[in-house]
Amino acid sequence: MQYKQYSLHNFRQIPQINILTEEQKFVIEVVGTVLPFKTDNYVVDELIDWTNFENDPIFILNFPQKDMLDEASFRKVASLLKNNSPRKIVQEEVKKIRLKLNPNPAGQESNVPVFEGERLTGIQHKYREIVLFFPTQGQTCHAYCTFCFRWSQFALNDFKFAMKEADKLVRYLKANPQITDVLFTGGDPAVMKTRFFEEYFNALVEADIPNLKNIRIGTKSLAYWPYRFTTDDDADDLLNLFRKVKKNGINIALMAHFNHPRELKTDAVREAIERLIEAGVQIRSQSPILRNINDSADIWAENWEEQVALGVIPYYMFVARDTGAQDYFAVSLKRAWQIYRNAYNQVSGICRTVKGPSMSCSPGKIQIMGVSEVNGEKVFVLNFLQGRDPSWVGKPFFAKYDPNAIWIDDLEPAFDESNFFYEEAYYELLA
Ligand SMILES: *Cc1c(COP(=O)(O)O)cnc(C)c1O
Ligand code: SF4
Repeated sequence: MQYKQYSLHNFRQIPQINILTEEQKFVIEVVGTVLPFKTDNYVVDELIDWTNFENDPIFILNFPQKDMLDEASFRKVASLLKNNSPRKIVQEEVKKIRLKLNPNPAGQESNVPVFEGERLTGIQHKYREIVLFFPTQGQTCHAYCTFCFRWSQFALNDFKFAMKEADKLVRYLKANPQITDVLFTGGDPAVMKTRFFEEYFNALVEADIPNLKNIRIGTKSLAYWPYRFTTDDDADDLLNLFRKVKKNGINIALMAHFNHPRELKTDAVREAIERLIEAGVQIRSQSPILRNINDSADIWAENWEEQVALGVIPYYMFVARDTGAQDYFAVSLKRAWQIYRNAYNQVSGICRTVKGPSMSCSPGKIQIMGVSEVNGEKVFVLNFLQGRDPSWVGKPFFAKYDPNAIWIDDLEPAFDESNFFYEEAYYELLA
């Protein structure tokens, strides 16, 4: 299958797009001027149900929607475009709007380690056992998700977390024996040609780092371009590389990003999953919970059951991050927990490897364990699945119940306490 990319500049060439009215196409132009927009022919031809595109989850996940901008911003950009305003003026307005959308959430800057006197801008090291690695060639995606928390990388051309050199990564891993996992991330590292994977993975294998147990690859490609693992020119080479790494005693985990069961149903994705598993790759799945896409227990239960049947291990359910089009997708913490629980309750134990709902915020990954009552006060029970300080993990703590809260910032400590237990240490860590 030949890859064809669509973006703001050529989406009107998509054959199916003629179902849309001129006004609907203009909405895509307006919102797509602010938020990054890109999709591909697999998504367009094999995933989207065009007969019902207005409510189609995959359409909404790929094509900018009107309500992803607040009304004032939408009107402003719309009128600039209608009046054919100079590019520079449009760009200035767009920049202002983007900066209001929290383009860089969860204090990622503070995860960049200093090593041998140098800031390693292609690495983030937040949790003790795992580093994120941002290979330069993998800082884009086959298609962009409309809820993406890395959207500013694409929209603002801000590739500040990318790094080329494998040898620095190797030295960093050797100097930090507590690290067991490297997560290749982006963008989507699977957009890289296999020769780049070879460069990085061979360096890791040859360095023979005893503490390195898992190489993970965070990717959306199984969902949006499964041909990466089947018919692309260098697909076979990639699978052979995975086999080789595995033979050398390093586990490869593909952290697959699936938002909706539809993404699991095509022949292409099924063949890709089969080939990866056959090459010894472990596939784990993760997704945020998103209004208008997957905010129902039945969808999640179907997702997990379908995944397990295909050999994919359910891993995380995230709460949509506080960035970009958050309001469009936001599900309250209360509902996220209810949906998680109702889904978890209707699947067998083999699917219950999943953890969540979890907020990836600056102090760590905070799970909403449930709603409870302690001494007559209604509370959220929370728990760190990961913490900037590992000693925070696994200690339940309590926030005042608030049915409208959508993120950690909306929560206050229960029992009239002034701080959550970790806060003092957290501010010290950051300082
Ligand atoms: C989620 C995340 C990880 C991976 O955490 P696991 O719980 O091991 O999957 C690593 N680093 C950062 C910054 C993360 O947000
Ligand atoms: S695949 Fe990941 S990085 Fe790429 S657009 Fe989607 S959420 Fe963002």
